[in-house]
Amino acid sequence: MGRTNLFECPKCGYRAKVAGGASDGVRFTVQTIQCFECRELHDAVTSLKVAIPRLSDTSAGVQLKGRPKPIKDPPPFAAVLNSLPLPARTRTRWQKFKAVCPVSPWHRIREWNQPGKCPRCGIFLEGNAIPFRIWE
Ligand SMILES: [Zn+2]
Ligand SMILES: [Zn+2]
Repeated sequence: MGRTNLFECPKCGYRAKVAGGASDGVRFTVQTIQCFECRELHDAVTSLKVAIPRLSDTSAGVQLKGRPKPIKDPPPFAAVLNSLPLPARTRTRWQKFKAVCPVSPWHRIREWNQPGKCPRCGIFLEGNAIPFRIWE
């Protein structure tokens, strides 16, 4: 189970809804990052369960339509959270991603783990004891 927590800055009022570190779900894992360009905390998707194309799918008919392209850039957290589960008998594998800023992979980031400081003013953020959201 992964969880999203609400963090608040007591000084500047910055609020972030992030995991607050590494968090594992059934279908994906995230790592909270601090982006120096956005001056925000983000949850970066660091691995995702993806379908392995079945051998029979590569037979002539299907091949014309093209095989699913491998995912290169990590999808944003909201996209994987809202994506439909893979069909029950799909063969899957874990694809790993480097943690990057969801706004731009070129932004400078570092991992952020609670307790951590506000990306705006550098005061320690206060975490809420109750998770904001729990996801699978
Ligand atoms: Zn602050
Ligand atoms: Zn950024």
